[in-house]
Amino acid sequence: MKKLIKSLLMISAAAVLLCCPCGAVEQSVRINDTVTFSINGEEAPAILSDGSIYTWYLPQEGEVLTVTSEQEIGYLYIFFGETPESYSVSFGKVRRACGQNGFLHELIEIGANEVTVKLPGSKICSVEVYSSGTLPADVQDWDRPVRDCDMLAFPTHADDDTLYFGPAIVNAVSRGLSVQIAYMVNHWDTVDRPHELLNGIWEMGVRTYPIIGEFPDIYSNSLEHASRVYIPDTILQYQVEMIRRFRPKVVLGHDLNGEYGHGAHMLNAVLLTRAIELSGEASAFPGSAREWGAYQPMKLYLHLYGQNQITLDVHAPLEFFEGRSAFEKAEDAYAKHISQHKWTSLAVEDFGDGDCRLFGLYFSSVGQDAQNDIFENIPPDEPPRPVFEQPAGYGNTVYFSKN
Ligand SMILES: [Zn+2]
Repeated sequence: MKKLIKSLLMISAAAVLLCCPCGAVEQSVRINDTVTFSINGEEAPAILSDGSIYTWYLPQEGEVLTVTSEQEIGYLYIFFGETPESYSVSFGKVRRACGQNGFLHELIEIGANEVTVKLPGSKICSVEVYSSGTLPADVQDWDRPVRDCDMLAFPTHADDDTLYFGPAIVNAVSRGLSVQIAYMVNHWDTVDRPHELLNGIWEMGVRTYPIIGEFPDIYSNSLEHASRVYIPDTILQYQVEMIRRFRPKVVLGHDLNGEYGHGAHMLNAVLLTRAIELSGEASAFPGSAREWGAYQPMKLYLHLYGQNQITLDVHAPLEFFEGRSAFEKAEDAYAKHISQHKWTSLAVEDFGDGDCRLFGLYFSSVGQDAQNDIFENIPPDEPPRPVFEQPAGYGNTVYFSKN
């Protein structure tokens, strides 16, 4: 019966393909229902391909997944439940090394009817199979972090990136500028937040994989409390390393008052005002100076900072995002943070202590602003700065043991 259903689905899928106008690029679609998943020759458990992040399969050593399909497999798209170890994917005469970048959501281009995956010993939430063609917009194909970025944003948590920095990031992306994000805390103690983080920034057009800090998520309602529950010097060390590693022209940080009063936001912002100085001094945290070189960005903006304040235009329709404004795209991204919607007071706002339009220029080596433009006075690259791709999530000092 199962085979019959699969055959019928295959026929209907083939009919769709035949209907494509001559020369048109086919739309890639999820074909999990029409393929066969087996592990070491036995039928694979359904949770391996159920599309859910809330269930996962933990492979044993030596397990090999085989996916077979009558229709050509265009891509495998794997959701991991933790940062994956290395693994390999083989089809025809091709063997691909995967997982080295530590991407939680990894896309692998295939182009064959059978593919084998030498599974890593890492939790796999779901293996998604797509046909060949143009992928749906929400399928994530991450780039590795890039060394010389235009903007480096330092949100504390997943969702601060959308609530406070969202429209600033979207505006930069829409201008073709490169954006790197370095989160202070991680959410590995939750199932959904690491996925929501990626889904949100992908929605905003960010394509370089973010850096996830080693620090745990601890609620705090004051700078004094946050300074006790975290080790400030290790956060400073992390910030300095990120600035040296990514050599941004502009850095964005939180409100010194922590937006709605979150002590970890405050600590992140206060330390960033020190990091912006120390990153340029080779004698400060000499390990990362040796590895990446001392470097000082041209500007530091803090959210809501009262001096030298600019008001971003967040409501103009953006051609890059098919007429959606930066504000609307930030809202689209916050919609991905489903687990956070229980906090009904949080939303992308253009007023009050969440006003995403307001940033103050805390530091500048290129003069003061006269317009409402984060990139005002930033000289164009002549010649363009060389781009060095870097592995994601690796090469960082371990600052804080998770245990
Ligand atoms: Zn936060």
